[in-house]
Amino acid sequence: MTTAMPAKQIVPHSALPAFIQPHIATMIQMAIASKDGSYSVYSKFRVGASLLAYPTREFFLEATAAGAQPIPALPLDGSCPSEAAGQTGPQIIPGANVENASYGLTVCAERTAAVRAITGGRRYFAACVVAADDEESDVWPCGACRQFLAEFGLDTLIITIRPNGDISNVLTINELLPNAFTPANLFK
Ligand SMILES: [Zn+2]
Repeated sequence: MTTAMPAKQIVPHSALPAFIQPHIATMIQMAIASKDGSYSVYSKFRVGASLLAYPTREFFLEATAAGAQPIPALPLDGSCPSEAAGQTGPQIIPGANVENASYGLTVCAERTAAVRAITGGRRYFAACVVAADDEESDVWPCGACRQFLAEFGLDTLIITIRPNGDISNVLTINELLPNAFTPANLFK
């Protein structure tokens, strides 16, 4: 006897906030393609991420109020084409998980993308798409990544997708990490 699997939720792009709609297709493509850069020789569990990163939250608010503008995607191979070189505006930034023989040193896809963004001067993350190969269950950012991203804002939208690119969930860091310990606790 087989048990029917419950229908999987799909979040339509039209249900996303307006600011992300012009960019979500590129972000999904990039998160999926980023899995090819995964170094997951131990777990074989590839994860890709793409981050919609702005220099600051104020920059994001002004840019979204001004209307949709094209946002360049940082190439997966790390090269710097002319349109990305010297760019100080928003970017879509890829990342993939990187494992280590000393397992505890493994870094997740979300954090590799975030570190790239931060060191490139982009410290506000409007959204992060997370892609894995798991057909059966949703793959969410781990606790460490939630905390890492919370450092840069609690309203970052986390978007999980299925291997085929369908969106399965959309929640903010604040919803994923309630009562987070943040810079506000230290900067008084
Ligand atoms: Zn993680």
